Amino acid sequence: MPVPPPSTCASCAWLSTSDGTLTCQGRAIGDAPGPERLRTDPACELYESQRSVGCDDCGACCREAYDSVPVEPADAERLGPTYQDRIRVHDDGWTDLHRVPTACGTRCIALHNRDNGYFYCDMYDQRPQTCRDVAIGSAGCLFARRRVGLSVNITT
Ligand code: SF4
Ligand code: SF4
Repeated sequence: MPVPPPSTCASCAWLSTSDGTLTCQGRAIGDAPGPERLRTDPACELYESQRSVGCDDCGACCREAYDSVPVEPADAERLGPTYQDRIRVHDDGWTDLHRVPTACGTRCIALHNRDNGYFYCDMYDQRPQTCRDVAIGSAGCLFARRRVGLSVNITT
């Protein structure tokens, strides 16, 4: 099977297939799905190849794009005794993961850099559900990347 050229939507990271219909997640507004697209449609200025969008050199959703990682009871159980001290308890009883200051905000306490600069989570197998929900290519992923300036925002 021939590999589609990168000039079409076929290999774009933001071509969503989550609801069984191909839509452009890059042009979604709010909770509404973006416009329907064909894999053969010409790529637009929002195009990023699936190969170029990866967590190793991004880390957006674990650092400044969001300011909190909620910890629900099931998450706390999954974190186990090893990571209980990473749970931050707020005055109203709400719980999330501790944050660490950075030059431009905060990052999750579990996020680190390897020697090559790539990011990694040191408790990936135990990470909370909200982290699991932000998969590569998801709306949350795109939102995070836009907030740190890694992906183009159609509103700017
Ligand atoms: S899921 Fe998306 S935003 Fe989060 S680190 Fe991976 S590529 Fe970046
Ligand atoms: S727990 Fe891991 S995956 Fe979740 S935000 Fe922190 S570093 Fe990212």
